[in-house]
Amino acid sequence: MCVLKVEKLSLNYNLNKKEIVAVRDVSFSLEKGRTVGIFGETGSGKSSIGLAIMGLLPLNSSIISGKIIYKGKNLLNLKEKEINQIRGKGIFLIMQGGRELFDPTLSIRQHLEEVLNARSQMTGEEVAVKILEFFEILMIEKDVLNAMPSELSEGTLQKILISMALMNKPEILIADEPTSNLDMINQYRVLKEIRRFQTRHDMGLIFITHDLSIIANIADDVLVMYGGEIVEKGDIYKVFLNPGHPYTKRLLAAFPTLDNYKKDLEFIPGNLPAGDNLPTGCIFHPRCVYCQEKCRKERPFLSKLADNHYVMCHFVNEIQQWSDNVV
Ligand code: SF4
Ligand code: MG
Repeated sequence: MCVLKVEKLSLNYNLNKKEIVAVRDVSFSLEKGRTVGIFGETGSGKSSIGLAIMGLLPLNSSIISGKIIYKGKNLLNLKEKEINQIRGKGIFLIMQGGRELFDPTLSIRQHLEEVLNARSQMTGEEVAVKILEFFEILMIEKDVLNAMPSELSEGTLQKILISMALMNKPEILIADEPTSNLDMINQYRVLKEIRRFQTRHDMGLIFITHDLSIIANIADDVLVMYGGEIVEKGDIYKVFLNPGHPYTKRLLAAFPTLDNYKKDLEFIPGNLPAGDNLPTGCIFHPRCVYCQEKCRKERPFLSKLADNHYVMCHFVNEIQQWSDNVV
């Protein structure tokens, strides 16, 4: 069952009187109990999608077009009061860092009690048991309960935010680089716990990251973003085993595996395009080894490569047949 649908979302930022394209024509849907992984490098527009869903875009942003449908309503048309009722309970966002999300005058215990009391009629003792259960799973020291946010590291605060998110039992969790301040062991624990929780509560998950290994670990479907556009999307196995877009092909060729970790990793010469100066035609053409005249002039659209596998490239079928040695 579909729990969230994003349709042709485009949004810009206004910076120093310049219109910067952040997201262009992004469409996807999220099913109950499934995970959409949004992959992109810094500046590819991936975080703006999460903020748009939550109605938390900064004041200098403007939605150019699109809809975000949740429970039959377009979230982009809701008043602040209505979207406030959805935030936290229906849809919860965990962002990178997150110190600013804590009230500096409340202890961690008070934060967590507030979350649990708002959700249920638990007794004080039940609340304490629940909190300690989460702490044990996420390897958070018990003493942290009496600490103030200012006394804790970013990594610990991030794990507490994740416990708060899961305690809320949201229908949809949007996690934007939620493990970026954690070491490998903690990262593994957190991802495992999010997955376990998702299975138990049939939660829809949107996981935003620049780390392909996390996407491989957690996503059912992946969106590959480049310069604000989705250049490839689909089933994680199809995209990883048979990437269609030259950008995805390069990324995956650069992805270390047990076989290639000693080899020189592939890289993509050039930089991400600037949002105020997007290339004409295909957004990837200045960096694409397959670029043809048509690519400089005409913008490609997502076309179907297989069931639940779409690629934004004029020559996707030809490239599949050309020699793999070019990439
Ligand atoms: Fe490369 Fe052309 Fe495909 Fe763009 S449309 S990815 S430039 S081959
Ligand atoms: Mg970001």
